[in-house]
Amino acid sequence: MEQFDVVVVGGGIAGSSIAAALAPAGVSVLVLERQTTYRDKVRGEYMQPWGVAEMLRLGLEQTLLEAGGGYTNAFVTYGEHIDPVTAEASAIPLGMLLPDVPGAMCVGHPQASEALNTLAQQRGAHIVRGVGDVDMIAAPDTSPVVRYELDGIVYEVPCRLVIGADGRQSTVRRALGIPLAQIESRATLGGLLVKDADWGSDAAFLGNEGNRHFLAFPRPNGYVRLYLACEPGPATAGPERTQHMLDAFRLKCVPNSERLANAQPAGPCSFYVGTDAWTDRPMADGVVLVGDAAGWSDPLIGEGLSVAMRDARAVTDVLLAGDDWSAAAFEGYAEERSERMRRLRVVVHVATELRCTFTPEGQARRVAFSGQMMSDGLMLGLMLSSLAGPEMGPAESFEAENVQRILALA
Ligand SMILES: Cc1cc2nc3c(=O)[nH]c(=O)nc-3n(C[C@H](O)[C@H](O)[C@H](O)COP(=O)(O)OP(=O)(O)OC[C@H]3O[C@@H](n4cnc5c(N)ncnc54)[C@H](O)[C@@H]3O)c2cc1C
Repeated sequence: MEQFDVVVVGGGIAGSSIAAALAPAGVSVLVLERQTTYRDKVRGEYMQPWGVAEMLRLGLEQTLLEAGGGYTNAFVTYGEHIDPVTAEASAIPLGMLLPDVPGAMCVGHPQASEALNTLAQQRGAHIVRGVGDVDMIAAPDTSPVVRYELDGIVYEVPCRLVIGADGRQSTVRRALGIPLAQIESRATLGGLLVKDADWGSDAAFLGNEGNRHFLAFPRPNGYVRLYLACEPGPATAGPERTQHMLDAFRLKCVPNSERLANAQPAGPCSFYVGTDAWTDRPMADGVVLVGDAAGWSDPLIGEGLSVAMRDARAVTDVLLAGDDWSAAAFEGYAEERSERMRRLRVVVHVATELRCTFTPEGQARRVAFSGQMMSDGLMLGLMLSSLAGPEMGPAESFEAENVQRILALA
């Protein structure tokens, strides 16, 4: 029965990043990961500039670039109401939002998970992949014990701290009975990776045309992650969904978009109903939750990787600051995270209403919003929060009054 300072349950984005940061500082870390091979399950592949800032602080840039990631320094908003030349000239310069942050990063989720996990191992973390059932025994005044199964053998590992980084269905969260609040969005979002699209990697884009909201995130190696938000139905649930997704990228408002529509699918196509979820206190004595395990932001606004990076950095800072690893030591993290996720929920609500109302009224509201945003500090605050960090917008941007004012635009 080996003993570790930290057992990380879940070796994905958040868990592997923490392990890679703790191990070289002399903390003994065990990472338990369910998957032996990371698969494309249609997850986040676009990291906002504020997530990049956290990732840089964690020293993970080289690893993610070598995993096929690349910087995108412009974000274009196309649409029926704007000609493409004007849209491209008005692109948001992602590399100019935060000091020393070159832009947003696009990177494959399985590739990033694999690379971060390997880095953690190279830096001295002990990694176990392919674990079966994981359980946790935590009681006040005693050290936690993590029990896991591998190849039919059950292991028990005592430690000082368990980090639950095991995603939305977190075993650790459920073992602790930490309640998860959840709201369902009215947006359905699907994703598909394509390759050989003959598409540059300088700019990401999103927009609206007809009854769809589309997003595209190109990587330097010729892959592009496509996302589509549309009304759910047989076309999004049935065997034709890949073709439906590709056809949705035959866009009049995006130049050369038929190159994306004609590209080769390079992974599964899956659609999900959006949800937002949060925990008030993502910790207990001997345990702390990070990433999706602690609650997640609706993928429509692409914040989950950035949330995971900030969680990883914030929890690492606490653990390396001193010897106090009690629940009380994570109060600052819990407080900051709670406000961060509340602000992101406001951004999601406004973004969903603006982008996923596929009616003439919805179109008129989008036009009004894009016409006023740059000169309206509170609207700009919401947009900046999603790109440069939820703390960047003024507090009034997130008040109900401002949200109602935006949604009443026409
Ligand atoms: C459709 C969709 C699109 C998205 N788009 C974006 C986007 O563009 N940008 C963005 O920032 N975010 C996006 N996200 C969100 C983003 O993918 C997640 O928020 C992010 O991956 C969370 O990181 P994590 O480390 O918490 O979880 P993960 O990276 O999912 O890692 C969790 C790990 O835990 C492992 N695990 C689970 N249970 C156990 C267990 N019991 N024992 C051991 N291991 C376990 C899993 O195998 C996995 O490796 C999207 C999500 C979806 C669903």
